Amino acid sequence: MENTMKAVVVREHGGLEQLRYEDVPIPKVGGGEVLLRVKAVALNHMDLWLRRGLPEGPGIRPVHLPHVSGGDIAGVVAEVGSGVNHLEIDQPVVVYPGLYCGSCLYCHRGEHSMCHEYEVVGEKIWGGLAEYTLLPAKNLEPMPSGMSFEQAAALPVAMTTAWRMLKTAAQLQPGEDVLILGIGGGVSTAALQIAQLIGARIFVASGHDWKIEQAKTLGASAGFNYHRGSFEAWIQEATGGKGVEVVVDALGADTWPMSIRSLSEGGRLVVCGATTGDRPDISIRELYQHHRRILGAPLGNQEEFRITLQLAGQGKLEPVVHQVFPLSDIQAAHQLLEAGEQFGKVVLKINEHS
Ligand SMILES: [Zn+2]
Repeated sequence: MENTMKAVVVREHGGLEQLRYEDVPIPKVGGGEVLLRVKAVALNHMDLWLRRGLPEGPGIRPVHLPHVSGGDIAGVVAEVGSGVNHLEIDQPVVVYPGLYCGSCLYCHRGEHSMCHEYEVVGEKIWGGLAEYTLLPAKNLEPMPSGMSFEQAAALPVAMTTAWRMLKTAAQLQPGEDVLILGIGGGVSTAALQIAQLIGARIFVASGHDWKIEQAKTLGASAGFNYHRGSFEAWIQEATGGKGVEVVVDALGADTWPMSIRSLSEGGRLVVCGATTGDRPDISIRELYQHHRRILGAPLGNQEEFRITLQLAGQGKLEPVVHQVFPLSDIQAAHQLLEAGEQFGKVVLKINEHS
């Protein structure tokens, strides 16, 4: 094996020009670790933040430069460290993107994303935007046959988070109404598929008519363009004044007040992000007087990841890939995600010596 690999390295925070496609040393594998030959990586908003520089605030951890991001990874096993017996060289695998200690109270309960040491692959340690990446062996799951590497890379963060939100946290039931905001985003699009699998009636909202139309082809019954005004009035009308049992809001402060007013009696708001800000101006009375609940979920646990992976292998969930770029076109991929012009995941494909 050669000693160097291509990687997307951020040496200084800033614009697209800070994404440098260059040679770096291939990491050395240690005990309990696996060196993965990366085949495909999907982008998340985290990758944009890590390039631009993170905002300051609670729950934000500093990152050390130079850095290689990328948390949504599919690839093949290139080398295993000591003590790793359950994986074979060249085996196709998908990466559970939550890093966890494996020994704390929450890890013992199987709640890996609640671990005291929880972080996401590619956030502090180097991630998958490279020809090779180093991971704990316990994070790797066999890739179901019949899936492409691009589809597999599109699954982990989005599907595991959406599963946690809709199944585990909100416990969405067949026949219930759900409103999914920001349709076209990774988690929102995964939520649409999971809601469809559950058998809920699905409403979506977006600032783009074409995304609403696309969502209808995936099972949404109706959609609302934010440019038409407030979606709460539309939801109340569409549900005969009842409101929806569940709102999936991956956006943040801008939409929270309307999201809460769109809920039925006892309705649940599930949240997994704060891209539009984390200080919403909400009414406490509008919450408790209607028995409404707010549920947070940054990512599901590894068992939830396995469930979504199995369902994808069976064709019951199909990760939506918007566009695939070669790794060397990383700037164009960031630009597309930054502009919000995608429906589904933006994926980088890594060929040997690409
Ligand atoms: Zn732990």
